[in-house]
Amino acid sequence: MTHLMSNYGRLPISFVRGQGTRLYDEQDNEYLDFTSGIAVTNLGHCHPNVTAALQEQAATLVHTSNLFQIPKQEAVAAKLCELSGLDQVFFCNSGAEANEAAIKLARKHSKEKYGEHKFEILTLEDGFHGRTLATVTATPRKKFQEGFAPLMPGFRYVPKDLAAIEAAISENTCALMMEPVQGEGGVLPLTPEFLQGVRALCDKHGLLLIFDEVQTGIGRTGTMFAFEQAGVQPDILTLAKALGNGIPVGATLAKAEVASAFTPGTHGSTFGGTPLVMAAVLATLETIESENILQNAKEMGIELGLRLQGLIEQHDCLLELRGLGLLRGVTMDRPVAPLINKCRELGLLVLSAGENTLRIIPPLTVTSQDIHLAIKILEQAVQEVAQGVAQA
Ligand SMILES: *Cc1c(COP(=O)(O)O)cnc(C)c1O
Repeated sequence: MTHLMSNYGRLPISFVRGQGTRLYDEQDNEYLDFTSGIAVTNLGHCHPNVTAALQEQAATLVHTSNLFQIPKQEAVAAKLCELSGLDQVFFCNSGAEANEAAIKLARKHSKEKYGEHKFEILTLEDGFHGRTLATVTATPRKKFQEGFAPLMPGFRYVPKDLAAIEAAISENTCALMMEPVQGEGGVLPLTPEFLQGVRALCDKHGLLLIFDEVQTGIGRTGTMFAFEQAGVQPDILTLAKALGNGIPVGATLAKAEVASAFTPGTHGSTFGGTPLVMAAVLATLETIESENILQNAKEMGIELGLRLQGLIEQHDCLLELRGLGLLRGVTMDRPVAPLINKCRELGLLVLSAGENTLRIIPPLTVTSQDIHLAIKILEQAVQEVAQGVAQA
C-alpha cells in the first residue's frame, strides 16, 4: 500500500533530472516535455538563472514572515505592476490561493464601496479556478464538486454570452471572474470582442472584472498576460503556475482603489512572498526580459500552431486547433488518453484538457528543432492510434 492518498492518477514514471525542454527518468531515458509541469516551468527545467538565484538566497535567508519588510517582495510587486498596469500585489503560494484572495478582495471591496454587502461572483461555463472549497465552487464542473457539498454560497454560473451574463447580474453581484483562455476546460480562448463586452458590462453595472491568468500568464500565450491581446484590463488579476518557474507562488494583483480593501489583518499567508520564493520570481521575470522570451514564445507559438494545423489536415481523427501562443489544444474524434500514452512511449510528454482535447504547452524557450521533433512523434503516435495499434 502506498502512504500517499489516491487523489492523483499517477503514471509509473519517475523523473530524476530536467534540463531545458528535456526530462530524464531513472533509466536515463530522455523525454521532450511539452507539458512544462502543467504550464509551470515556462523557462524550461532548472533554468540556470533561477537555480543560481535560489542557491544564493537559500544560503542567505529563506524565511522571515510578513511581520517584517521583505525588499525582494517589493521589487517583484513593482515589476508585476509595471508589467500589468495594476497597482498592488498580495503574494500567496498557489493559483487557488490567489483566486481565494481575489474572491475575498472583491467581496470586501464591494462592502467598502457600496456599504452593503454584495457578494455574488459570476463565473463562466468551462472555467477552472482551483480545488479549494471556494475556487472549486467557482469552477462549474460536477466532476470536481461531487461529494464536497455544501459548496460555498455566492457563485453563479453563466454561459459565454453577453446577454445571458447581463441577465444574470443581480443587486448582489460584485464581480465577474474568468480565464481569458480557458485552459483545463479545453483550451478555449474567449474572443477579444467577448472580453471587451464583459469589460463594458462590468463598467456599466459597477462590477469588478477578475482575470484568472494562473495558466495564461507569464508569457504562455505570447504576451506577458493574455488580456493584453484583447486590449482589456481587469480590476483584479491572479497569477501562479509559471510565476516562479516551478517554485510554488501565487499573486493577486489589483487596482489601488480595489486593493485598499485589504487593510492590516484582513488577509494573510505565512509563506506568501518569502525571500526564497521572491528570489526565484525575480530571476524568472528578469530572464523573460534579458533572454527575449516573449518574442520566442510569440514566434514559436505561430510555428507550433501552423505545424499542428498541418497535422490536423492530414489526419481525419484530429478535428480542430485551439488556443493562443504556446497554449495549444487539438480536439480529437475520440478520447485522447491513448494518443498521450503513445506519445510518452515515443518520448514526448503532452497533456489532455478534458476527455477529447490534447493540450500542448511547451516551455517558452522551445526551439524550432524541438517543435519539429514533437510533431514527428505526434504524427507517428496519431498514425498508430488511428490504426488501432496503440492501447488505451
Ligand atoms: C492551475 C489553475 C488554477 C489552480 O492553481 P493551483 O496552483 O493548482 O491551486 C487556477 N486557475 C487556473 C486557470 C489554473 O489553470
